[in-house]
Order: sequence, then C-alpha cells, then structure tokens
Amino acid sequence: MADRVKVGNAEIAMVWDAKFEYTPSQFLASMPSEKWAAFGINADEVQESRVMTFLIRSEGKNILVDAGVGAHGLWRWGEGHLPDSLKELDVTPEEIDFVVPTHLHLDHVGWFTRPTPNGPVPTFPNAKYLFQKEDWDFFVENDYFASRPDSPLNSMSQKMFETAVIPMKDTGLMDLIGHEETITDGVTILHTPGHTLGSVSILVQQGSEAALLIGDAAHTPQQMTEPEYSPGIDIDPSLSERSRRAIVATAQEKNAYVAGGHFGRPGHPAFGRIILMDGRPMWQGVSL
Ligand SMILES: [Zn+2]
Repeated sequence: MADRVKVGNAEIAMVWDAKFEYTPSQFLASMPSEKWAAFGINADEVQESRVMTFLIRSEGKNILVDAGVGAHGLWRWGEGHLPDSLKELDVTPEEIDFVVPTHLHLDHVGWFTRPTPNGPVPTFPNAKYLFQKEDWDFFVENDYFASRPDSPLNSMSQKMFETAVIPMKDTGLMDLIGHEETITDGVTILHTPGHTLGSVSILVQQGSEAALLIGDAAHTPQQMTEPEYSPGIDIDPSLSERSRRAIVATAQEKNAYVAGGHFGRPGHPAFGRIILMDGRPMWQGVSL
C-alpha cells in the first residue's frame, strides 16, 4: 500500500528510491548502546534503512522533495528506483513542477539528472530546481569534495556532483533560494541547519493539518527523543541538535506528521507523529 498522507487538500506520498545498511554504534557513535537498547535496538547489529524522496501534490503542483541516489552507478547498494516509484503514483518526470533538495549530499541529488549515451540530462525537464544558496556556495562554488582529502565517500560525492549537480548550472532550470521561502500556498521551506549549513525542512500546512519533511536533520527516529546525538557527517553538531529540538517543538505545536529522509526500515511507515512517552517526545510511525 502506498505510504501517503493528506494535509488539507494537499497529498504527500513517500517515493522510495533505494536501500542501504548501517550500524548504529558506528553511525551515531556518541550515543551509548543502552540508549539504543531502550528502543529495542542492538547498536552493534546492522540495520536496514532506505533512501526516500517525497511527492507533494498541492494547488495543482507536483513538488518533489529530494532526488535520491540516481542511476549513475554511484550508490554501493544499487541504483535508485525513483522513476518507477513515481510511475506507481501515476506521475511522469515531465509532470514534476519543482524539485527541492533538503540539502546537497549524494543520496539527495542523484536523480537531478539521468544518464544517457550523450551524458547526463535533467530527469525533470519541466521543473524548477530550487537549491538552497548556502549549500550551493558551500559545496559547489567552493569545490568542497574535490578539495578534501581523498576518501571513498569524498570521491563518490565528487563524482556524483560532476554527474548530477554541476550539469544543472547550464540548464536554465535552477534557482538559488534563501533560507525561508514559500513554494506554493501552504508549502514553505524552513531553515534547519547543522547536518549541512543550508539544510532545510519542508512544511506543508493547510488549516489545522501539517506535515514536516525534515531530510537529514535527523537520520533516525531515535534522534527525535535523543536530539543531542549527532552523526559524524553533521557539519555542525550543536546546530543540528538545535534544529532537531526546533523540529520536535514545531511538530508538537502543529500536531504535524514528521518524515525523515531515512527513517525506518523498508516496508515500515515513512510518516509518523511525535507522541509523548514517559514525558519524552518520541517519533511513532503511522500505519495508513
Ligand atoms: Zn541522506
């Protein structure tokens, strides 16, 4: 069954792209194993997770949030499936009006382009691609990955940038945007920095209903309860902690659905709500 929610007249659907695996004790190394155990998770056991993107249909517009890992052979767990997942929702790439990455990491930009025999071309030829200027300057203008010490992640990221991100410069399809913007009525961008300095969340709000798509402001639902623990890949851990606390507060205030870019195992709910468990906030998946 499709994993989707209604927010007023808007609809948000999870669009699955790819799988991956991680080990909690390595990925979120600062979080003690007994904290993981409180969630029923063995921190040393490999966990399955996934790369998700989201389709917002609002005011007659199709807004794609994040663009997965793509099909350029640059994701070690296999190619992305975003176009097939869109097809299941009866949406073609040509019908996407906006592409909004939450940030410019390699698992969120892959489908900006698709491979062809003549090189990469934009996957969504009729879309406006809205890039957060701070991330664009940080990663693209500063040649971030090319100027770092060589590591598997940096060289993979650099290849992804050359294939999926930098080619967007010459397409006339991209706009650089500020920290807080309105995309359509009821769909706004909120600055939730820390994972990257330009990281944003997407707030969908209509009447008394709301949803927050938070990208990688948190990578696991457990960080909604334990916001002080940041993975090594967060550029500014204390800023990302502050953003997680703000996201939890906003979600509680608006009783909003919350979806992360990587929350949960394949087959589990993508959308959840923040409930209180023993007085502490906890992300609980919503079965639809
Ligand atoms: Zn990610």
